[in-house]
Amino acid sequence: MLEDTVDRLKGVGEKFAADLELMGIRTIEDLLFHLPFRYDFYEVKPLAEIIHDDKATIEGRVLYEPSLSFYGRKRSKLSFNVEVEGVAVRAVMFNRAFAKKHIHADETITLTGKWDAHRLQITVDNYKMGEAGAQAEIQPIYSVKGNVTSARLKKLMKQALQTYSDELKEILPQNYLEAYKLPTRGAALKTMHYPENRTALKHARRRFTYEEFFLFQLKMQLLRKIKREAVTGNAQQYDENAVQQFIQSFPFELTNAQSHALQQILADMQSPYRMNRLLQGDVGSGKTAVAAIGLFAAVTANKQGALMVPTEILAEQHYQSLTELFAGLANVVLLTGSIKGKKRREILAALKSNEAHIIVGTHALIQDDVFFHDLGLAIVDEQHRFGVEQRRILRDKGMHPDVLFMTATPIPRTLAITAFGDMDVSVINEMPMGRKAVETYWTKENTLERVLQFIQKHVQMGEQAYVICPLIEESDKLDIQNAVELHQMLIDYYPEQMKIGLMHGRLSSDEKEEVMREFASNQIQVLVSTTVVEVGVNVPNATIMVIYDAERFGLSQLHQLRGRVGRGDQQSYCILIADPKSETGKERMRIMSETTDGFELAEQDLKLRGPGDFFGKKQSGLPDFKVADMIHDYRALETARKDAAEVIETNALDNNPAFEPIRSYLESEGVYTLKLD
Ligand code: ADP
Ligand code: MG
Repeated sequence: MLEDTVDRLKGVGEKFAADLELMGIRTIEDLLFHLPFRYDFYEVKPLAEIIHDDKATIEGRVLYEPSLSFYGRKRSKLSFNVEVEGVAVRAVMFNRAFAKKHIHADETITLTGKWDAHRLQITVDNYKMGEAGAQAEIQPIYSVKGNVTSARLKKLMKQALQTYSDELKEILPQNYLEAYKLPTRGAALKTMHYPENRTALKHARRRFTYEEFFLFQLKMQLLRKIKREAVTGNAQQYDENAVQQFIQSFPFELTNAQSHALQQILADMQSPYRMNRLLQGDVGSGKTAVAAIGLFAAVTANKQGALMVPTEILAEQHYQSLTELFAGLANVVLLTGSIKGKKRREILAALKSNEAHIIVGTHALIQDDVFFHDLGLAIVDEQHRFGVEQRRILRDKGMHPDVLFMTATPIPRTLAITAFGDMDVSVINEMPMGRKAVETYWTKENTLERVLQFIQKHVQMGEQAYVICPLIEESDKLDIQNAVELHQMLIDYYPEQMKIGLMHGRLSSDEKEEVMREFASNQIQVLVSTTVVEVGVNVPNATIMVIYDAERFGLSQLHQLRGRVGRGDQQSYCILIADPKSETGKERMRIMSETTDGFELAEQDLKLRGPGDFFGKKQSGLPDFKVADMIHDYRALETARKDAAEVIETNALDNNPAFEPIRSYLESEGVYTLKLD
């Protein structure tokens, strides 16, 4: 049986089994699915096509008998010339003196090794007398650990495949295999370990790519359905007329994208199921406006609304704007970590008694002693900043609130349907009319003088600027040190009438609030800051964003910072001060200078950083696919997603016997029978 432990195989004793277990291989099935992480193709290429320092295979005629020299104690070097395409190529082979006997002048030889294009020399790893043959030879490369060698693993794999491959049952329905021309599971697995040629390997990979995506999508979509239907009876009967009037009171009309997202949110709120939705939109696309309307709708349904944001600055800002917006309509309160004692107790009491309708806050919202009268809608802003657990706690406050997650970090579609496949997604992909794109320039530090004069000129025209200070490694403390020094430098540089503010994470929240208030009212013209201003801060009169050490930030974060300007009517500018050493760093600066569309940037960021890094270090919610690659195989991902949706919609897992194997797989993964709440 595939579940048998590997010691059933010949030659596997206790020790070898323990070594294998260290690599995560316990059963025969584990072993069989320990797939090569790479393949080397030995295939003769024209010399001109071989890249310097790459591994390559060449074929030629040995020009004269090899000469053997010894050096050191046991080392030897065998060298000879080979004629390839009419050119003499030097071949060197280390520590294989015995090969001299096999290599003879005038015979054809095939050599594989590292190619030095400058010296026309190959350092030979492998050789074979005779021609290379028409087919490329394909060598699977396995990851190995500890005492397990590649050779031993391969030998064992062979035995396991011979003995057990008949037991590998197909899991995909037959008509899928036919429709997509996929090899069966067993055949594909054999090919992964022993590829006969490139075409067979391609199809085997295609099969596992599809299988991985399809099973994963089924899991996610099943989960989404279960989450959605776990709670019924939370329909919010909001007052449609009041909501319409509220929308009319805005000084602008909603964009089409905003209206569309809003309709989806309101429909979820009205439905008896619990909303579990992600709202994506670039900075400034008007998510907050949509969120406010949702909160208002909840209040008209006699429920409460909560807005949770990652920083105190943001909480305060949202609190102020919502208080104005809801004046005479709803009672808004603020709860942050720095609100304590009597004031805090009063707020908690107001929440419990339904005197407070809407609460804005930070993590302070999810403390144990915070209770709602009846929480209808919980909105989590910049959701990627909160851990999964914190989101869950908020979701489970109150009765069964509808939950809306918002993010201004546009997430590439491939990642969105993978990492957030268990959620519904709304996208605001349109900017309010008349927004001017932020002009972005990339410069080196030696032009600082000009940058400072540029700021001064605009300040004299009544505008304001942010200067994000240089980063020192990961050290918060030193970054603040830097901010302090830069602040002093600007004070010395600029005329006295220009007021320079300073903002960093170590200021008390009162101090922060004071600085932000002065900046918002243009008492401070230039704000030196660490990255604490990154999210959400809204000062429309600020038109210049200078970012030191821009190469150290990811594209998404740079885009977030840039989003602090360009919020008013004037032309805004973003100046990146950077001297990137790496190609990726340079590429990032180029992309930032050329693109202002957040979704486009996100796609580029994904390509530069890879899916694992996209969300940063924290658990990303991304699965570890063995064969599939989300970026490269995005078309297969789309197909699998559609297929999975159809399976879930038509209840094929229950009704169609062809899905029996998949159903038992999902059961074994605990998804099929999952019950929430
Ligand atoms: P986000 O939260 O997505 O960053 P906001 O909701 O803060 O965006 O909106 C940014 C700015 O644009 C705010 O000043 C807001 O009043 C304004 N705004 C929002 N929607 C529109 C619209 N449809 N037309 C014009 N301005 C809008
Ligand atoms: Mg609902």
